[in-house]
Amino acid sequence: MARRILVVSPHPDDETVGCGGALRLHVLAGAEVRVVFLTSGEAGGHGLGPDETRRTREAEAAAAAAALGLAGIEFWRLPDGRLTATRATSARLSELISTFRPDVIYVPHDGEQHPDHRAAARLVHRATARLDGGAARPRVLMFEVWTPLGELDELVDISPVIDAKLTAIRLYASQCRVLRFDDALAGLARYRGEMHSWPGGDYAEAYREPRW
Ligand SMILES: [Zn+2]
Repeated sequence: MARRILVVSPHPDDETVGCGGALRLHVLAGAEVRVVFLTSGEAGGHGLGPDETRRTREAEAAAAAAALGLAGIEFWRLPDGRLTATRATSARLSELISTFRPDVIYVPHDGEQHPDHRAAARLVHRATARLDGGAARPRVLMFEVWTPLGELDELVDISPVIDAKLTAIRLYASQCRVLRFDDALAGLARYRGEMHSWPGGDYAEAYREPRW
């Protein structure tokens, strides 16, 4: 059973949309879940300036993390919309993985339409490639946010925790005002549950393992 979980989230809300159900299940099973927010989503203010947007979205991330029972979150404040998997950021993530020693790393999948999401996947690829051979390599599971996965490697029945996931995403009020993320993720999870996880539960999250 996974004891330590690391999520690499390009923006505040991706962790909840993509894997909030699995994170809640990990917490209920006694795991320690930590999230790195690579950017604070300051470009997604929908009319607000970047500083106010950053403050708002970081506060929303903290509230959502508390609702899911996560152990810790940190903000790396890399540039929203211009995220790249630089050598320095890969080294920083590799260092974190070496010290925290997660059993599983969650990140958006590498076919996502949002360039920051693909950059996050590249970053995890580079950071895990830098790990020295002696340590056990964490399992990487890639989740869907903007672009539904075509090939699935893992389905997680999140029916028991769908309400917690919806509560967490609604705490991202600044984003849900513009786009009904709660309806969208409930719809996708319902689709995954019905079409792919038979005879599983009503709601599911889908994941793919990297081919790198
Ligand atoms: Zn995002």
